[in-house]
Amino acid sequence: MSTPIHAGACFCGAISYTVTGKPALSAYCHCTRCQIMNGSAFIWTLHFPSSAFAWTHSAATDTYITDGKPWKTRHRCKKCGSCVASHNAKTDNWSVWGVQFERDESGATKDLDSVKPTAHIFYETRLVDITDELGKWDGYEGKSTRML
Ligand SMILES: [Zn+2]
Ligand SMILES: [Zn+2]
Repeated sequence: MSTPIHAGACFCGAISYTVTGKPALSAYCHCTRCQIMNGSAFIWTLHFPSSAFAWTHSAATDTYITDGKPWKTRHRCKKCGSCVASHNAKTDNWSVWGVQFERDESGATKDLDSVKPTAHIFYETRLVDITDELGKWDGYEGKSTRML
């Protein structure tokens, strides 16, 4: 089996990247930071080690840091405003959002099996109850209390 490569891009396509191999984490995050920054009840977030992340087009990238997390450098598109990736200087991981991965003709994420979410994290601050089979954790999967 070949190593999975997922291509991600902003809304307008001006900035894009690839992530290679299995993610260190793939989960639906219900934390308030993800909710507010994405305007969404929860977001499919993935962490990859630095060695697995590469920009394909980054000329239109604008970087910024938000209060409370100075170790996280976030990258957004100057043209469409979408944030596509952030680098954590503490862990040397990149965070990306699975919703931005390339889809097939039917709209499904390509090669989903290799990157599928395994849990709901920071579930305590959820805005909607989820009834799927995945574990619900009050922090990170396996490193916090499992709620459901
Ligand atoms: Zn863009
Ligand atoms: Zn979050």
